[in-house]
Amino acid sequence: MRSVIIGGGVGGCAVAAALRGSCVGSNCTVIERRPSGLPGGMGFILMPNGIAALENIAPEFDWRSAGRTLDRVSLRAANGRILTEQTIEPATCVSRERFLAMLREATGTARFLDGRNLSGLVRQSDGVTKAAALDNGSMIEGDAFFGCDGAASRTRAILFPEAQLADVVVKEVVSMAHAPALAKRLGSTFHKFHDEEGGLAVGLLAESAERVVWFLQFDARRWEFSDTSAAGIAQFTRDRIAGWAPDLLEALACTDFARSHLWPTRDLPPMASISCQNLALLGDAAHACLPFTSQGANGALVDALVLKGLLAEVTDQAGLIAAFAQYSESRRPHHRRMFLEGRRLREAFLAPLLKGVPALPLVA
Ligand SMILES: Cc1cc2nc3c(=O)[nH]c(=O)nc-3n(C[C@H](O)[C@H](O)[C@H](O)COP(=O)(O)OP(=O)(O)OC[C@H]3O[C@@H](n4cnc5c(N)ncnc54)[C@H](O)[C@@H]3O)c2cc1C
Repeated sequence: MRSVIIGGGVGGCAVAAALRGSCVGSNCTVIERRPSGLPGGMGFILMPNGIAALENIAPEFDWRSAGRTLDRVSLRAANGRILTEQTIEPATCVSRERFLAMLREATGTARFLDGRNLSGLVRQSDGVTKAAALDNGSMIEGDAFFGCDGAASRTRAILFPEAQLADVVVKEVVSMAHAPALAKRLGSTFHKFHDEEGGLAVGLLAESAERVVWFLQFDARRWEFSDTSAAGIAQFTRDRIAGWAPDLLEALACTDFARSHLWPTRDLPPMASISCQNLALLGDAAHACLPFTSQGANGALVDALVLKGLLAEVTDQAGLIAAFAQYSESRRPHHRRMFLEGRRLREAFLAPLLKGVPALPLVA
């Protein structure tokens, strides 16, 4: 069968890897908007459920050593005072660039069309998708389609125009610091520093022996942020955390702000269905959740694993449509839980710290 995967990020590469050896995956094309060599993004946490999915999908790779182990969380006040510390089931902090390179290698013979943008879908009157239309005018015909084009999914917008991302309440500045001494001190502990008034926090994680990923989360209704140039992001960050713990100031001093990203974090209210005939949505396209859960990439990996199981024996379109319907139904409870957990953690983040210790910024 011919499979067309729209989006070559975490979900797209994971499903291409997961389909290896199956009839559905025998002829796989991945359409990826970014030109090759431009993966973008900083890093994220591979949680135990994401690691378990990877170890099943592509066991030939050592996913646990793709980054740095995290086995402890230290939640602190802005000045560095420890509020609470706890051990967690081991997770791994990875650079998105390195991780995606590994995941792409795991896709085997899949054909990548880099720098190609999905512009539309060619569909029959019964809703079966026949081809993906690209912005260069070409068509990619297929039997199975996978919409893995992220939170602002074009695929979802075509199939389910009523599904809309929620408004932005929290924004994040995500950056990487070249800071070997700080990385050594952080070790395997995820540090998060909180403003007592709520609505402002900074996370610090060592991603390798040299690099530290850090992110500043802030209440976007409280702080306007219009200058998104490197100098503008640097100034905004310095203003927000002036006088905070020395580790944070060290991370800032070692950061190239030209590589920083400003993310408007948005989630997607749970959808009634994430498949339509021979097309299934995966990852953020299906269930964008707030970053407080750390489950975005992990949820996409689990989606791919579930599809691997359901599609293993499928050899025709009727079987494919039935498997996609089952996939949609089986993932709904997870999507609903992540949506609610994300909202709960956001409320806790926005509330003043005086009400108690901060919530653990991870969902297993
Ligand atoms: C601030 C922030 C922090 C985060 N922190 C974490 C974390 O700690 N842990 C975690 O697990 N997750 C985290 N995430 C989420 C994580 O990055 C995503 O949820 C994850 O990558 C989802 O995978 P995906 O394949 O759905 O989307 P993506 O990995 O974003 O891939 C989508 C791909 O589709 C491509 N694309 C888009 N439109 C088109 C088109 N029209 N045609 C062709 N290609 C297209 C894009 O270029 C992209 O490569 C965070 C997200 C944000 C915003």
